[in-house]
Amino acid sequence: MSVNQQAHTGLPYGQPQPGYQGYQQPGYGGQQMTGVHHSQYGAYNGPMPGYQQPAPPQGPLRAPPTSGASPPTSGAPVPAGQPVYSQFGQGDVQNGIATPAVQMQRPFASQPFIPGTAPTPVSQPATFQQYGPPPTSAQQLTNHMARMQIGSVSTSAPPPAGLGYGPPTSVPPASGSFTATGSGLYTSYSSSQGPSPVNMTHGLPSTSLSQGLSLAQPSFSGPPLSAQHLPTQASGFVPPPSSTGIGPSSYPPTTGAPRPSTMQGPSLPVQAFTGLPTSQPNHVSSPPPHPAMSGPPVTGLQGPPPPTHPSQSGYQMQQNGSFGQVRGPQPNYGGAYPGTPNYGSQPGPPPPPKRLDPDSIPSPIQVIEDDRNNRGSEPFITGVRGQVPPLVTTNFLVKDQGNTSPRYIRCTSYNIPCTSDMAKQSQVPLAAVIKPLATLPTDETPPYLVDHGEPGPIRCNRCKAYMCPFMQFIEGGRRFQCCFCSCVTEVPPHYFQHLDHTGKRVDFYDRPELSLGSYEFLATVSYCKNNKFPNPPAFIFMIDVSYNAVKSGLVRLICEELKSLLDYLPREGNMEESAIRVGFVTYNKVLHFYNVKSSLAQPQMMVVSDVADMFVPLLDGFLVNVNESRTVIVSLLDQIPEMFADTRETETVFAPVIQAGMEALKAAECAGKLFIFHTSLPIAEAPGKLKNRDDRKLINTDKEKTLFQPQTNFYNNLAKDCVAQGCCVDLFLFPNQYLDVATLGVVPYQTGGSIYKYAYFQLETDQERFLNDLRKDVQKEVGFDAVMRVRTSTGIRATDFFGAFYMSNTTDVELAGLDCDKTITVEFRHDDKLSEDSGALLQCALLYTSCAGQRRLRIHNLSLNCCTQLADLYRNCETDTLINYLAKFAYRGVLNNPVKIVRDTLINQCAQILACYRKNCASPSSAGQLILPECMKLLPVYLNCVLKSDVLQPGAEVTTDDRAYIRQLVSSMDVAETNVFFYPRLLPLTKVDVDSDTLPAAIRNSEERLSKGDMYLLENGLNVFVWVGVNVQQGLIQNLFGVSSFSHISSTLSTLPVLENPFSKRVRSIIDLFQAQRSRYMKLIIVKQEDKLEMLFKHFLVEDKSMSGGASYVDFLCHMHKEIRQLLS
Ligand SMILES: [Zn+2]
Repeated sequence: MSVNQQAHTGLPYGQPQPGYQGYQQPGYGGQQMTGVHHSQYGAYNGPMPGYQQPAPPQGPLRAPPTSGASPPTSGAPVPAGQPVYSQFGQGDVQNGIATPAVQMQRPFASQPFIPGTAPTPVSQPATFQQYGPPPTSAQQLTNHMARMQIGSVSTSAPPPAGLGYGPPTSVPPASGSFTATGSGLYTSYSSSQGPSPVNMTHGLPSTSLSQGLSLAQPSFSGPPLSAQHLPTQASGFVPPPSSTGIGPSSYPPTTGAPRPSTMQGPSLPVQAFTGLPTSQPNHVSSPPPHPAMSGPPVTGLQGPPPPTHPSQSGYQMQQNGSFGQVRGPQPNYGGAYPGTPNYGSQPGPPPPPKRLDPDSIPSPIQVIEDDRNNRGSEPFITGVRGQVPPLVTTNFLVKDQGNTSPRYIRCTSYNIPCTSDMAKQSQVPLAAVIKPLATLPTDETPPYLVDHGEPGPIRCNRCKAYMCPFMQFIEGGRRFQCCFCSCVTEVPPHYFQHLDHTGKRVDFYDRPELSLGSYEFLATVSYCKNNKFPNPPAFIFMIDVSYNAVKSGLVRLICEELKSLLDYLPREGNMEESAIRVGFVTYNKVLHFYNVKSSLAQPQMMVVSDVADMFVPLLDGFLVNVNESRTVIVSLLDQIPEMFADTRETETVFAPVIQAGMEALKAAECAGKLFIFHTSLPIAEAPGKLKNRDDRKLINTDKEKTLFQPQTNFYNNLAKDCVAQGCCVDLFLFPNQYLDVATLGVVPYQTGGSIYKYAYFQLETDQERFLNDLRKDVQKEVGFDAVMRVRTSTGIRATDFFGAFYMSNTTDVELAGLDCDKTITVEFRHDDKLSEDSGALLQCALLYTSCAGQRRLRIHNLSLNCCTQLADLYRNCETDTLINYLAKFAYRGVLNNPVKIVRDTLINQCAQILACYRKNCASPSSAGQLILPECMKLLPVYLNCVLKSDVLQPGAEVTTDDRAYIRQLVSSMDVAETNVFFYPRLLPLTKVDVDSDTLPAAIRNSEERLSKGDMYLLENGLNVFVWVGVNVQQGLIQNLFGVSSFSHISSTLSTLPVLENPFSKRVRSIIDLFQAQRSRYMKLIIVKQEDKLEMLFKHFLVEDKSMSGGASYVDFLCHMHKEIRQLLS
């Protein structure tokens, strides 16, 4: 097909065309693909820059560019034999020049927070039918492969629907009452792993802070915090276990522990339930259904109250003096800080502690409200370089006029220092958070698809950048000069067009690639592996059918859901049915493949028990079209729960499951996604077998990092093979005990997949959340076999990458799959000077295979300003994006560094950022004043939330798996998600107007803001809480819960009752609204004031001192001030 030079008629751009004739029909049993990989994308890759860096995804913590490296800390020995990857704290930057700058001001506008686009709901509830006893033949396994006919389901003796599926023995039904003390939800799995007292050395002692508050009195600054006296930088860090060295076909020998005795035959069904329920931090699981649980130590909660300074009227937060503009009133801002009079002359004992007025310090709520009011009503038009977009919490419309939408790319700063010296001085990280396949609101236009015909997209000859609005046409339109590398390239005859008197091509507005920030190109065959257009992708559902999975009702639930969900596979444009083929595997210690070919009367099962050398026993009939094979598929899904209903197999394998899926995709010559539903630590004898190595005693030691590292390299190698095949893995975990998320998560993480975790899964309370997650996950837009490259104009270069992907070189981000919710964060460094005139340009190009098998390139372009004045940098920063970067930076850092070092590094960097501002940009003022840049006035409060998060400062109740899970989750979050995750949204429900769609104003996350007479909704993207005060009006309780009094409210509800009154309807609609805005379904938790669950709720009141020793906002602000003053003195 060579459609080119077509004059566009009517609408300027053609919409993406669904039918693409380039790809072949699915073929089974074709020849095996060779191990083609990234090198196949020759046409895509530009010249490789010479920049070298440590392996990005799992690399060592590379410190921000700080000056004056300190010696390594006492710990962190480098084990012999492991290479030291990099210096900590180096700044890889150079010089630059300067010219005048043009400043963009944030426009002002307002609009209420309204939901984004909700995913198409799948309305079918899971139904539970009566099932007959399983056919006896189903359990027969042969040594290698057995072919059998699965009998049809017939008879009865059903387990009680729903209720009978609860875990056996120690697990009472969810509706039981709990007598646990403390934070019941936070309980470790078993007594042997019970909460050990955690050495809270990270806490910021309130005494020090209260003294530090006397900022103008150095003699009074009290004992330094421990954090300040430890070196914040270390000279070298141990890399994670290398991912090289073991070939995919040579499994590591199963050295070490001999086969446990439990391997010798089927285990008793009750054995696996010795543990106690657990929960996820920030992602709470079921309330613990065990009566004998002891909560975590709660001493931290009764700690000394925050320091009080009654005589101080306020804390002068001088607003960015030189730029003057105060965005919205900050109540009580004006009070003077006790100042210089006593400077250095304070004798005798310290004065009584004084309380800093929390109303006088910057409020996230105020900043969010101001931005919403000022910027929500006008569209954000992207035509101007370097504009700072509205905050992620503001609802606004985007009009693409040449720069990409902030929904695709957000930057830490929209005005980059011209020189590396300036950048180094400011310490402000230069990073972009990129969500290439972001879902747009319905009132914004998705990217147009451009077809440049057989020669492929027009690109710069030298740097291979794609045609974009910043390319300059010269010589009457016969050539164009590259905006990235300045190279001049001939315009091919088929693309030639005349220029108008301004030098613009006359077809400027007809071509998305000349006038828009984001668009897509149809890729030619040279952008495809092996120079062949790809087949449509496939989805393979792989279900753990071991004892736990069956008995919890999970297997039945999944099979029921799939029957309807398969009708909602992603479709391209207006295609009638999805091109995606599906396949099914079940497994425990062995794997069962199913032939669901449409011509069969019944599905056939093939068993592979030799898991050491995984192969796919059938090609024809394994991956099928849903509509063609519907009868056989439904029959299979009906039979699976019956076949394994009486299983006594408790052990599972894991790596062979992934291998099987990958091999099946390879055999079918397509990319695709594996949906794996898994319940336990894979201890069965097989490649990738794991042992329980959880050890909470490692917390706060130099070996803590090992808890985040995989216990074997096996999965890194497997991930590499998966990426080469375009095999993305989504993992749904249902653990009843430790299952080593850090190791099991390696393949999902490196293939661009997702992990979902439902600790202590119970049908009654968790099925809604799981099913909603599964529906969203299956239906969401996803690209396969993707490669992302970020090009930049001369002077800066992408040097570091954060997220769920794989990299085999320093420039190409490889993603077996990339869905609409995943972000990749890219950091930039100077490699030359920038100029204020030309600014800086980014071009993100994502090559991927669509769900219909079409090969495409999605292009996002963004132009930024450059500055020679630090003030311009500080005036154009985006703190939410900065926090997103810093959290990812820190969460990667814990892989290779003691957590304390990571925390101190963050504090140090932020102190330097703010000190640089104070020194260079703020108007002169007394040393006792803390002066924050207007755009960064929330940096301290948000940074504190990151520092006290479960990954960086775990309470005794947070499990190792929880931390590994959260660490991986945050690494792919976009800016809106990290914003609400670290600083949850809290709404007072009595302020809800039942007649309006407007949400009540949010309040700050502090206990002192809560009223006993109110109810509150708190959401953080993973959980949504309803907190009920003890003095709430009875009428409200009746309206919301349908019970007569506070004491009758059940805290085990996982949904609010559906009641026909305006208040109930409105509150439920707000919760639905929140659910629709988030990429995962949030678990609903009812918390009654003074109830044991309140401890858990308080964990999310992030402005308060935390149980795990995390500082309150007030204390932390004082601490930051002290750090800044030390840097300035
Ligand atoms: Zn170029």
